[in-house]
Amino acid sequence: MTTALRWALIGASDIASTRVVPAMRALGHSVDAVYSGSAERAQRYAADNGIAFGSSDLAELLALDIDAVYVSSHNDLHHSQAIAAIAAGKHVLCEKPLALSIDDAENMVAAADEAGVVLAVNHHLPFSPVHQRVRELVQSGAIGKVLSVRIGHAVLLPERLRGWRTGGARGGGVALDITCHDASVLNPLLGRARRVTALGVKQGPWAGDTADAIMTVIEYDNDGDAVIAQTHDAFTIAFDTTSFTVHGSEGSLFGRNAMTQDSAGTLELVDESGRSEVPLELGRNLYEIILTAFAAATRGEGAPTVSGRDGVETLRVALAAQESITTGQTIHLC
Ligand code: NDP
Repeated sequence: MTTALRWALIGASDIASTRVVPAMRALGHSVDAVYSGSAERAQRYAADNGIAFGSSDLAELLALDIDAVYVSSHNDLHHSQAIAAIAAGKHVLCEKPLALSIDDAENMVAAADEAGVVLAVNHHLPFSPVHQRVRELVQSGAIGKVLSVRIGHAVLLPERLRGWRTGGARGGGVALDITCHDASVLNPLLGRARRVTALGVKQGPWAGDTADAIMTVIEYDNDGDAVIAQTHDAFTIAFDTTSFTVHGSEGSLFGRNAMTQDSAGTLELVDESGRSEVPLELGRNLYEIILTAFAAATRGEGAPTVSGRDGVETLRVALAAQESITTGQTIHLC
């Protein structure tokens, strides 16, 4: 059974109009209102996206008869806007990063728990076909003991997104934008991140003061075993295909086109018996998967794909990478 939620958008964003609103509507949910910091933009965005109500008054929006809000504003606003929505008794699907500090993110989780509403994070990768299958294969022992993981998540930032993302003021930068997503698939596979070392440089032609090309090394505590993960995240690479490689004692898994917003990718298993293509169930919209689980969670059935608590842990890794770049130190997380 699906619950058709009534949504309000907080943030007149690209991701809402290109990915999330179409997914909401495909599931039969309604998108009733949008909030923007600018009244004029709220009206225009509402008109452009077939939304009945646009406002720059957050309290007015939250007073509407809606079930849930989707927060996809600038990263520095996620915390205050989600807290306001939770205080108004709305379920919250929040974009990553959940907040800009662990204290703020923890505060959001605690507030949602206290209010009895669902707080989830819109990380799209964990239930993509490649990552779901990788977890199943690893859990079944198909590649033995996991030793290391390598992620290639270096892309060319589309021109339309070369705004706040390339500067630190609003919570931009590659670590919060991409490394955060890497952690959303590393954490459920490997456990708790123990220490993080990163190097970042600025390469792109755009304005901005944050590193736009980062290589990070993360040590995970995988049930007492040390597993090492390495990620390459960038806004500057035009001709790579994203990848997710897991090396185990008995085999390796090679995911290609594995870090995408589409339900795509391939997976190959290599072990003593040779190479074999792993069949994947492609085609299910990744945002619909998130929304379906979220709607079920609002009626007390199951958990969201990525909970607020999970979002605190992805943020922890991303902030550690950022801190390591700034300080030149290895950051110890536990
Ligand atoms: P956008 O730049 O499109 O939107 C962010 C904010 O910028 C909006 O809330 C809006 O403010 C303002 N804005 C957008 N366009 C304009 C414009 N033309 N003129 C003036 N202001 C504008 O960001 P994204 O959609 O790329 O990202 C939004 C959030 O979603 C971020 O937190 C990001 O990390 C996340 N994200 C997640 C993805 C995923 O797959 N999970 C993918 C992409 C992004 P206002 O609302 O005040 O009008």
